[in-house]
Amino acid sequence: MRGLMQDAPLLISSLIDYAAQYHGEREIVSRTIEGPVQRTSYAAMQRRAKQLGNALLSMGIKLGDRVATLAWNGYRHMEIYYGVSCIGAVLHTINPRLFPEQIEYIANHAEDQFIFLDLTFVPLMEQMQDRLPKVRGFVVMTDEAHMPKTSLRNAVCYEKLVNAHSDRLAWPVFDESTASSLCYTSGTTGNPKGVLYSHRSTVLHGFAGCMGDVLGITSSDSILVVVPLFHANAWGIPYSAAMCGAKLVFPGMAMDGKSIFELLRDERVTMTAGVPTVWLMLFQYLDQVKAETGKIPELPHLKRVVIGGSAAPRAMIKRFWDDFGAYVVHAWGMTEMSPLGTTGNLLPKHKDLPIEERLDVQVKQGRAVYGVELRITDDEGKELPRDGKAFGNLQVRGPWITSGYFKGEGGKVLDADNWFTTGDVATLDPDGYMQITDRAKDVIKSGGEWISSIDLENEAVGHPAVAEAAVIGVAHPKWQERPLLLIVRKKGAEASKEEILEFLEPRIAKWWMPDDVVFVDELPHTATGKLLKTKLREQFRDYKLPGA
Ligand code: AMP
Repeated sequence: MRGLMQDAPLLISSLIDYAAQYHGEREIVSRTIEGPVQRTSYAAMQRRAKQLGNALLSMGIKLGDRVATLAWNGYRHMEIYYGVSCIGAVLHTINPRLFPEQIEYIANHAEDQFIFLDLTFVPLMEQMQDRLPKVRGFVVMTDEAHMPKTSLRNAVCYEKLVNAHSDRLAWPVFDESTASSLCYTSGTTGNPKGVLYSHRSTVLHGFAGCMGDVLGITSSDSILVVVPLFHANAWGIPYSAAMCGAKLVFPGMAMDGKSIFELLRDERVTMTAGVPTVWLMLFQYLDQVKAETGKIPELPHLKRVVIGGSAAPRAMIKRFWDDFGAYVVHAWGMTEMSPLGTTGNLLPKHKDLPIEERLDVQVKQGRAVYGVELRITDDEGKELPRDGKAFGNLQVRGPWITSGYFKGEGGKVLDADNWFTTGDVATLDPDGYMQITDRAKDVIKSGGEWISSIDLENEAVGHPAVAEAAVIGVAHPKWQERPLLLIVRKKGAEASKEEILEFLEPRIAKWWMPDDVVFVDELPHTATGKLLKTKLREQFRDYKLPGA
């Protein structure tokens, strides 16, 4: 017997309509590329998204057409999120940190019809446009006063375009499985592959972000969205926030510690989200302020810091707590998963734990979000126990997880039971907390046993002189591979190889001890802020470990 409830499609338009109606005055604050901080509201955003929708329709954009952005976090970018998807077109957020050849590849692969770009990217697109023959025109995301003279094909000023159209538009209604947005994974090898989200997957994932044990977003929150709108939909925050009317704060392109701190303080931010490298920059700024004034400035409103994309080091989780009383929600996910998979909130039994024991829980990547199934398997596909010790290939499935890449790239990605292999190696403990041991290809294979590069890096950054650390496997005649620790020291800080190894000794198993430590000025990162280990492995391929 079928239930007798209405079959209303889950569409992204319902989110902005709801926000405009029930939280119309709630603010959206942006540090603009042009300079000043701009303030708008959900009601204004809905009106302008409709104006943009009408503009896109007049430009001939139809259901399923791809419209791209090359932009930082700001209110115009969010208007485009809604304006494009709500008329049934597909929003393609391009990561500007990719190499130009990769940007060219994905814009052509996606067959983008128009590219909306921030002023910053005008020179890049001027150079590249001849290699993007399918792009019909470029919309520069600025006002008429700042519109540059440009050789871009059919260049239009965003404000001029939006203002030329009416805000009267009834969003079209279509099947909820219609594609809504497209995001390419920044794989470290091969061409990027497109993940194509649907209205249904996006709305369901949006609900998840509002759950107390996930991101816990509510109307009382003021959220600083540091995670880029071009990185897996900024972890779904633009959708979850509209669902409950949270205030949004966008940092534009100013990601330095001072600018981030000022927004956290001035906009009374309660929750923020970003990858670990951003918080390292914030801490460097706070250290500098402390050196000058004798104390760390206060952030009395900050309650939750969502950290994901790479493992959140223990020292970082502790510092947010010690300095601000802010709880780090350690989150794990992938572009292929919209991206939320697990979040590290506490169970009732953990609430009164002493801080060090609580950190033991928080360094894990957390428990499955409702809607995501997780399991670990061995190389033959046999499920491994959830005992917190066995580690294996992490697999996932659920309604906001990809079923295959855009245009079939990469072939079949699911097994017969719809499990998607993440490429991560992990443990699952009896309480359901998952801990990433490594990317399958980064794990160090020493004498038939595996060493987790992530664990070693996390311990190393606990040393007060260490700003960032990377561990890679280097060939060894006897053990196959042994760990090499690369360290970027904090500005002005000193620490010798011996001091670092001494620091690690009580913290790790003896046979995990890196065979050598090399101090470097900087470490290479991918376009989404992850350590670029392929490059490091290449760089240190012929490195001779002591005693090898
Ligand atoms: P992306 O699709 O760019 O978001 O990258 C997804 C990958 O980032 C995952 O498969 C993990 O390898 C890594 N990742 C994401 N979150 C975490 C985390 N909290 N700890 C460790 N690795 C993470």
